[in-house]
Amino acid sequence: MNIILLGPPGAGKGTQAKRIVEKYGLVQLSTGDMLRAAVANQTEIGLRAKDIMVRGDLVPDEVVVGIIAERIDEPDCGNGFILDGFPRTVAQAEALGDLLHKRGRKIDHVIQLEVDDEALVGRIEQRAKETGGERKDDNADTLRSRLAVYHESTAPLLPFYAAKNALKKVDGMASMDDVTVAIDKILV
Ligand code: AMP
Repeated sequence: MNIILLGPPGAGKGTQAKRIVEKYGLVQLSTGDMLRAAVANQTEIGLRAKDIMVRGDLVPDEVVVGIIAERIDEPDCGNGFILDGFPRTVAQAEALGDLLHKRGRKIDHVIQLEVDDEALVGRIEQRAKETGGERKDDNADTLRSRLAVYHESTAPLLPFYAAKNALKKVDGMASMDDVTVAIDKILV
């Protein structure tokens, strides 16, 4: 089973992805985590991505598509994966569709976590406190630009997947446990 979790930054994609991974034996593929690792290891991709990420902008499509294309070929992805933070543009979604098609695979569920922007600012500030500011992009200013980028570049994925009858919505403002239950109902 292959899943996409969609929603703005701070919507709870990472938390829910981890829960789904445990329950269904899938692999969580977070392009944000992979890019942060690349920055920490000062790889070529990391050096390219660093400033873009601090600003809250998007890393070029071909970079993230390349990362995902390599990663899904690894054996641990054989049982399925959950994409968290990818795709983030229609071009990425199209590239994903092509590369899955070439491998005889497909996306089974696209789940949107619906949340309200103002509530997100509070959540991100909370995450910054909990992680001791480990993520340089967790602050109210960067969040506003990440939200603007989300609405401009990522929100068009909603009609894109809705047109394929693939989109399922979950109320992301509910408690974390209720969100997990709602996702579970879609997956079983
Ligand atoms: P995230 O952890 O998903 O919030 O991602 C953190 C940052 O990594 C984003 O603000 C972007 O700069 C970059 N990033 C992560 N995933 C993508 C993606 N699919 N496309 C472009 N940039 C990405």
